[in-house]
Amino acid sequence: MKRLFTGGRVVSGSAVTVADVLVDGEKIVSVAPQIDAPDAEKVDVTGKLLLPGFIDAHTHFDLDVCNTTTADDFESGSRSALRGGTTTVIDFACPNKGETLQYGLELWRKKAADCHCDYGFHMTIDDWNAGIESELDDMFAAGITSFKMYMTYPAMMLPDGDLYRALKALKARGGICGVHCENSGVIDALVAEKKAMGENTVACHPQTRPDYLEAEAVGRILRIAQAADAPVVIVHTTNAAALAEIDQARQRGQTVYSETCPQYLALDDTVYYQTDWLSAAKFVCSPPIRKKADQDALWAGLKEGRVQTVSTDHCSFTTQQKLAGQGDFTTIPGGLPGVETRGEVVYTTGVAGGRIDLPTMCRVLSENPAKLYGLYPRKGCIAPGADADIVIYDPEADHTLRAADMVSRCDYTPFEGFRTSGSIAAVYLRGALAVDRGAVRDVKGEYLFRGKCML
Ligand code: MN
Ligand code: MN
Repeated sequence: MKRLFTGGRVVSGSAVTVADVLVDGEKIVSVAPQIDAPDAEKVDVTGKLLLPGFIDAHTHFDLDVCNTTTADDFESGSRSALRGGTTTVIDFACPNKGETLQYGLELWRKKAADCHCDYGFHMTIDDWNAGIESELDDMFAAGITSFKMYMTYPAMMLPDGDLYRALKALKARGGICGVHCENSGVIDALVAEKKAMGENTVACHPQTRPDYLEAEAVGRILRIAQAADAPVVIVHTTNAAALAEIDQARQRGQTVYSETCPQYLALDDTVYYQTDWLSAAKFVCSPPIRKKADQDALWAGLKEGRVQTVSTDHCSFTTQQKLAGQGDFTTIPGGLPGVETRGEVVYTTGVAGGRIDLPTMCRVLSENPAKLYGLYPRKGCIAPGADADIVIYDPEADHTLRAADMVSRCDYTPFEGFRTSGSIAAVYLRGALAVDRGAVRDVKGEYLFRGKCML
């Protein structure tokens, strides 16, 4: 079946062009000023923006963590993603310490069996030994070219020597690794001090995880990466001090990629000082939401190409699940829903707010994650040969974000009441209409074998 989109403004990482787009089956076959295709179904998108389907390279669906399981599994999470214009997610397969990578991969394949959008996996390395190293080639053969390591959380963190050894082994195979950067030891000590003083407000969460302890870990992993001569992805970069460490490593000649998330771009830490406990606890995530000045630094980083991607770190818990942490601020399940709101929040705050232009939005939501994670040019662009993953954005259709209107199983959104500039009018996944005026239709996702980093 052929479909012809006429009169829209087609957004790429470098330009916005008025053009027609012809789709045949699952693929884009032509992008040109005037296309004549009498056998195609016509869709008039005059006045609308056409963006390549968004890629969310940081989701946690169906994850057992914080003594509970995330509200969204792959079924609801992927429908929520599609509703937000995201046609591809890269989720983190997480074997526990002591389990094999193969076990983690098989478990995540089962979890993702009913995923409605296209998907891939990063593989978490939370153990380092000869057995894990011997499995790496199998991971690449399975289409997994990116990995994840933690500098905090006892269940997952690796000591510096193992971070070094793993980065070196991944570099030798052409892989890349994302790292969660926070100083574990000092955070534990700050938490113990709070508890000794009998303090248990939600504000203890950001107070015990300050920006400089994230920046310290960013600086340390980048020095470890220098020793290993390996590239690193700094996931969820939240603040100016961490970004300064990234800038310095680049000045030394290192290859560093930086990801941030909408909650760090559009919210500030006053959310933790609300008097109602649950209102504040809804925003608990790690690293925590920072200050207005940090938002400005991250937007400047996106504009100048020093921050390459905006992902969500979607890790959703209901208010009921958050309540489990009332007696101890360190047991509040950490994470926010975000996969449904990323595109509209970035468009509204970034593009309509004058902080970035449309090509930059395209780069950080689609083109850069596609290149970074080995999906380009199948994904990340509206061009002949690419998958027909297309977001139709109506810049005139402003609306108000409400959890009650969302398809996520989470019962709240950190952006409740947020007035958008425009909205997502339709989403196509490999040529199939996946979202029509807000309604998610029944489409099926495919597992993506990914190639190597080309960013
Ligand atoms: Mn993290
Ligand atoms: Mn995460």
